[in-house]
Amino acid sequence: MIRSIADVDVSGKRVLTRVDLNVPQDEAQMITDDTRIVESLPTIRSIIDRGGVAVLMSHLGRPKGKHNTTYSLAPVAERLASLLHLPVAFAPDCIGAETLSIVNAATGGSVVLLENLRFHAEEEANDAAFAAELAKNGDIYCNDAFGTAHRAHASTAGVASLFAERCAGLLMQKELAYLGEALTAPKRPLVAVMGGSKISGKIDVIMSLLSKCDTILIGGGMMFTFLKARGADVGSSLVEEDRLALAADLLAQAEARGVRLLIPTDTVAATAFSNDAERAVVSTSEIPSGRMGLDIGPATIASFTHEILQAGTVVWNGPMGVFEMSNFEAGTRAVAEAMAEATAKGAITIVGGGDSAAAIAQFGLTHAVTHVSTGGGASLEFLEGKVLPGVDALRI
Ligand code: AMP
Repeated sequence: MIRSIADVDVSGKRVLTRVDLNVPQDEAQMITDDTRIVESLPTIRSIIDRGGVAVLMSHLGRPKGKHNTTYSLAPVAERLASLLHLPVAFAPDCIGAETLSIVNAATGGSVVLLENLRFHAEEEANDAAFAAELAKNGDIYCNDAFGTAHRAHASTAGVASLFAERCAGLLMQKELAYLGEALTAPKRPLVAVMGGSKISGKIDVIMSLLSKCDTILIGGGMMFTFLKARGADVGSSLVEEDRLALAADLLAQAEARGVRLLIPTDTVAATAFSNDAERAVVSTSEIPSGRMGLDIGPATIASFTHEILQAGTVVWNGPMGVFEMSNFEAGTRAVAEAMAEATAKGAITIVGGGDSAAAIAQFGLTHAVTHVSTGGGASLEFLEGKVLPGVDALRI
């Protein structure tokens, strides 16, 4: 069983909370997107509103195990304070005597943010002694960082077992509820929409979805490896030659299991990988040589939209085309709009993190779907059916 922070008595206790405050910043360390800080507020408020001390720990960027002011969480402490309308005490390290004295001086209802965990190489090594040092800063452990739950690090895995009282934060709980339910007890039909550049990063997830889904829609660069595996001419579209056999195997498995695996029938094919390149809608069975498919075409958009609108549950991971270029965003936009429409009709719609989350934000539809996962890699591993170490460590 995994307890929720909402069910733990935190009054007067120090709650050592792993949050994901890994926000993007510009060269002047100005935060360019504070979504992750905003997403962590419900758990922080749940702790401080009930008289607990929220002792927050996170990583930021890749400082490679060394102290580096470029990756300091100090600007995050400031933004957090302004969002909470409360002072946030900032500890200059995540372990050590000075940190402990700052944490212990904090009274119920206050917030302390520890400096970047990855200033210590022991964090990513899941070092036991380092985890024990971290553990000194709390009476209760809470993990609200779904985005790093697929990594066994000291702050996500090692430290958890040192606490009798350990629990999931509200954001983590939401992720587990939506992603878990989508897979174990989905409202059917369960439709998966898979895209992105390559099959290689998503083989395991497609395999796993084959045993659960009713329909799988394939778009993005990965569609051309499937098309070529079926014998089509794909011009100069992205193809993973070393995955052709695998793609053929996935097609055969889908057929054997009675899963409908839909491959686009048309594509927007351009003369170069550029927004300004000459482009034309062509059938995927005859992409002219010298042309590359950079988006799904209108007939495919109509068919995918139809499938999404029939679904009880939709899980989406990966863009349908090069959505970063305006001339090749239509397919991805159409999927995002169909997801929003399906949601309004009562379907459960889930967007995996990473590029699909960026795409749905680009179209202003983040709040029109049931759930947008905060963890790209973590949500993929979850959909693959893997045990996430940061989640497993919370079990009591
Ligand atoms: P991934 O990281 O594998 O999820 O892939 C995301 C990237 O795939 C995005 O940056 C898209 O621009 C890219 N992408 C989508 N469709 C295509 C395509 N047809 N050809 C090349 N790249 C694509």
